[in-house]
Amino acid sequence: MNNKMPLQVHATRAFADNYIWLVAAPAMPGAVLAVDPGDAAPVLADLRRQGLSLAAILLTHHHADHIGGVGALLAHGPVPVIAPDDPRIALKTRAVRDGERVDLTELGLGFEVLAVPGHTTSHVAFWGHDALFCGDTLFSAGCGRMFEGTPPQMHRSLQRLAALPGPTRVYCGHEYTAANLRFALAVEPDNAAARAYRDSVAVRRAADEPSLPSTLSVECEVNPFLRCSKESVRAAAERHAGRPLEDATAVFAELRSWKDGFRE
Ligand SMILES: [Zn+2]
Repeated sequence: MNNKMPLQVHATRAFADNYIWLVAAPAMPGAVLAVDPGDAAPVLADLRRQGLSLAAILLTHHHADHIGGVGALLAHGPVPVIAPDDPRIALKTRAVRDGERVDLTELGLGFEVLAVPGHTTSHVAFWGHDALFCGDTLFSAGCGRMFEGTPPQMHRSLQRLAALPGPTRVYCGHEYTAANLRFALAVEPDNAAARAYRDSVAVRRAADEPSLPSTLSVECEVNPFLRCSKESVRAAAERHAGRPLEDATAVFAELRSWKDGFRE
């Protein structure tokens, strides 16, 4: 398997703003892996249109908009369903934990599993082939809400992802980039990289193209949630909090609650 070949990844749209990623199997022409198929119908339509067949499913977390289509997809034929070790995901064929590898040798695909708790307690990300499938943990220019985790957990998870190689392409679960950039620029109005990124994202969205994938090097320049140690981000968070913040985790917690109430 050539791990250096860039993956071919198709964005299947679902619901209002979800992406289901269809990853072409380098070793099996016409076969794809689906990441987070929350809805079967658009996946089946894209498979049919492109003459592809489903060979495996990866799930990042238990939310219905990420797993809701699994049953209907399996009705068309059994495939491996690889998911976090969580009883709320009933249809998995393999439960994975932090540090494990998912090797789909016949497809020519292999991923490392990273536990990234925060959005949910059992959320995982899959990293391989210079690509990261991170569900609702890291969004472009933003991050997921903490439904089950704590700010220190979520911050640690994001830092883990940010430490992966810069060229890593980031495939998130939702098209939130433009709205996230409005918040990012409220935090760092003078961030030239974020302003340039906002303009290029606006062009792509106006053409109805996905803003994704991003890359980790772009995210480290524009995403305030990955920049909690930067002086500009800390100063903005402290201004919003009206008090000094003791460390990067406290800055992260302040940013997350600021974003939760942010009105554009
Ligand atoms: Zn979610």
